Amino acid sequence: PPGLYIVATPIGNLGDLSPRAAETLRQASLILAEDTRVTGKLLKHIGAKSPMRRYDDHSRDSDRDRIVDRLASEAIAIVSDAGTPLISDPGYKLVRAARQAGRDIWTIPGPCAAIAALTLAGLPTDRFLFLGFLPAKAKARTDAIREVAEIRASLILYESGPRLGETLLALSELGSREGAVAREITKLHEECVTGTLAELAERYSKQAPKGEIVIVVGPPLEVETASDATVDRLLEQALERLS
Ligand code: SAM
Repeated sequence: PPGLYIVATPIGNLGDLSPRAAETLRQASLILAEDTRVTGKLLKHIGAKSPMRRYDDHSRDSDRDRIVDRLASEAIAIVSDAGTPLISDPGYKLVRAARQAGRDIWTIPGPCAAIAALTLAGLPTDRFLFLGFLPAKAKARTDAIREVAEIRASLILYESGPRLGETLLALSELGSREGAVAREITKLHEECVTGTLAELAERYSKQAPKGEIVIVVGPPLEVETASDATVDRLLEQALERLS
């Protein structure tokens, strides 16, 4: 049926492309891609011959309007270079415009580096905050870290190898929290290294790792503070024992 198909693609291992994703890409009358060369390789792998076009959120509004018009009668897919579109990748503005125009929108869910890393890290998964890439400039980065310091949740961040050490050092300001660095997930050199933020900062400041990286930070450590009610109850019990 016509509409916008948000199609997740592998983050390294081609085997992770779902049969439904492959079928959707083969059937689409147009595939919107971040980089048509990258997506071209994937299409070749699955024998899809659908036309492709470059699209990102910087594309002109008039461009987006034309795509939204076509969604009324055509099945159009959006993909990014890897993983789930819209997650630190283009697509949000198009989905919003399509919603506002009342077009049908379907998701073909699949790989997402943030979720893959969270599940590998061995850190609490019940509450988490995805921060994407932190700002590159030191001051803006520190501000962004301070803004979330008190939040009782695990944090997920994307980072590049050359900047990893610096970012982990900046994150050490959050105190002695646990962390994990997941690298090259689903690829040949996949690894997940855990430790305190200080330990990880030391390890990766010495040598910048290669490949793609997700940082996961555990929630703030619980400080044992008794509530007033608990103190009252303990005092009462102590007094009872005395009398
Ligand atoms: N939309 C993508 C997703 O769903 O994961 C993320 C796109 S973002 C532009 C690219 C970043 O995701 C990389 O810089 C890295 O931080 C992370 N990433 C992507 N693939 C990865 C992998 N195989 N292993 C570790 N991190 C990965």
